[in-house]
Amino acid sequence: MANLKFQRPKGMHDLTPLDWEYFQKIFNVVSNIAKINNFERIETPILEKRELFERGVGETTEIVEKEMYCLKTKGGDELCLRPEGTAPVVRAYFENGFSEFPQPVKLWYFGPFFRHETPQAGRYRQFWQFGFEILGEKDYILDAQIILISLEILKELKIEDFILKINSIGNTCCRGYFKKGLVHYLKKRKGGLCQNCKIRLEKNPLRILDCKDEKCRQIVSQGPQILDYLCEECKNHFFKVLDTLEFLEIPFELEPFLVRGLDYYTNTVFEIQEKQSNLALISGGRYDGLGKIIANKDLPGVGAAGGVERIAEILKEKKIFLPKEKFPKIFVAQIGELGKKWALKICQQLRENKIEIFESLGKDSLKAQLRLADKIKAKYVILIGQKEALQESAILKDMETGKQKEIKFEKIVKEIKKLL
Ligand SMILES: [Zn+2]
Ligand SMILES: [Zn+2]
Repeated sequence: MANLKFQRPKGMHDLTPLDWEYFQKIFNVVSNIAKINNFERIETPILEKRELFERGVGETTEIVEKEMYCLKTKGGDELCLRPEGTAPVVRAYFENGFSEFPQPVKLWYFGPFFRHETPQAGRYRQFWQFGFEILGEKDYILDAQIILISLEILKELKIEDFILKINSIGNTCCRGYFKKGLVHYLKKRKGGLCQNCKIRLEKNPLRILDCKDEKCRQIVSQGPQILDYLCEECKNHFFKVLDTLEFLEIPFELEPFLVRGLDYYTNTVFEIQEKQSNLALISGGRYDGLGKIIANKDLPGVGAAGGVERIAEILKEKKIFLPKEKFPKIFVAQIGELGKKWALKICQQLRENKIEIFESLGKDSLKAQLRLADKIKAKYVILIGQKEALQESAILKDMETGKQKEIKFEKIVKEIKKLL
């Protein structure tokens, strides 16, 4: 493999037919849950203007600083492969006049995203996400609803080993005070922070809260907590969300250092993490400020996104979902040129009638064809030979009993339907 002239780009992967079985399973669950919850599908372009992410996701976030794939078009536009779905959906909301619709507008998506991260297990530079967004209404109950839907997806996929972690990061009304308190506390301990966090301290101090470095975690754990800084309104919103989760008997863990790596979040942020690895399977939060940033209009919103690769990995690892070997029961074999042409026609007729069949029209040898029929454990073989083709009929053979009979072409669909 290593000496192939062309290999896929680093950190990217092919979705093989087997991978696709898992993706399809996840897609089916997600789209079904979207449907019963009145979400409608939206798919935004893979490319967006660079500025949308710089402003929407935040210029000092790691995603925008280091992880975007950007290009300059011949016309001079600066475009980037989308690193996430929320900013494009909010952009689309305004551009398509969704504010004229009854609010809230509920949208969902399922597609590939791109981040130029250091490749590591389970992380890809092109990865798939599904997402849900509720736009145009600010009410705590919608935060709870998004969490409930996220959990519903995992439940439906029979994934059990996860934990819901939740936090509030306030809003412009109160986050500033916390930032000040945090910076004040951290400045005195700057020497103990990792190299990244020393820079973050100047540019984006909140990100220090979820640094994975052990020394940073130690320092952060003894510092100020955002919950103590929330204003009345933000505190109220958050407690109502928690209260609703309790009412719904949804277990959760308060995680005061959960901030998520995107600047647009306000108030509720959450992650549903896999217990063993602490990897987030589905995560999200509220983003009431994003409309202002993107379109200079108020637009409350809350949403979540899930990582399809990781979830597919779990389905595979834990053998929760096993793709079935889908071998059809009927094999169509042919001999001779006329037989081959008729076989193609008959196959098409059967398939138009939703009858699943298998064939190998490219093979001339009957022996090779029958070997294949055997391999897929076909129950019946329809044989169209030169002689039969002239008489517009085929031989139907029951592979278990060895019995065979002749059927006229015009009756073949009806006869086969009787067998199934
Ligand atoms: Zn506040
Ligand atoms: Zn750090």
